[in-house]
Amino acid sequence: PLPVLAVVGRPNVGKSTLVNRIIGRREAVVEDKPGVTRDRVTYEANWNGRRFKIVDTGGWEQDVLGIDASVAAQAEFAIEAADAVVFVVDATVGATDTDEAVVKLLRRAGKPVVLAANKVDGPSAEADAAALWNLGLGEPFPVSSLHGRGTGDLLDAILDVL
Ligand code: GDP
Ligand code: MG
Repeated sequence: PLPVLAVVGRPNVGKSTLVNRIIGRREAVVEDKPGVTRDRVTYEANWNGRRFKIVDTGGWEQDVLGIDASVAAQAEFAIEAADAVVFVVDATVGATDTDEAVVKLLRRAGKPVVLAANKVDGPSAEADAAALWNLGLGEPFPVSSLHGRGTGDLLDAILDVL
């Protein structure tokens, strides 16, 4: 079976944009189960000749659970099923309490994590990315999922741990 990469993070940080960027906007759903996994969508991806599955999360944003519990629940399910995780943070916003809660989950899960500091659209936002060292997850990779900036380096780091 192909290794599985989960993409987790708060609503609107750019998870789906990053997934689309990584899969080259091929909307090829390879798994779309009903029930608890209804909002986790799995795609097949390929980087430098290595194939893997990538799981987008985030369909429960309107959930009655409230935002923190919803993000945490989705992250927990996705992390459990994954071999490695990309944790996406909006670098222009910085780390929020919800982000910190996800960091705790990630620590507990003990799976390899790559930190994507998203919305770094230009050099002036690099400092925002560097501030995310404070999350304690290692090097933040500055990316612009929207424009493609930095996503190659991010993918190299992902493939190193996947
Ligand atoms: P998700 O809820 O985490 O899946 O976030 P989306 O992928 O739906 O993106 C939320 C919003 O952020 C959308 O308006 C995107 O266009 C925007 N966005 C995503 N990535 C970037 C980025 O790298 N730079 C900028 N400026 N906007 C982005
Ligand atoms: Mg999304």
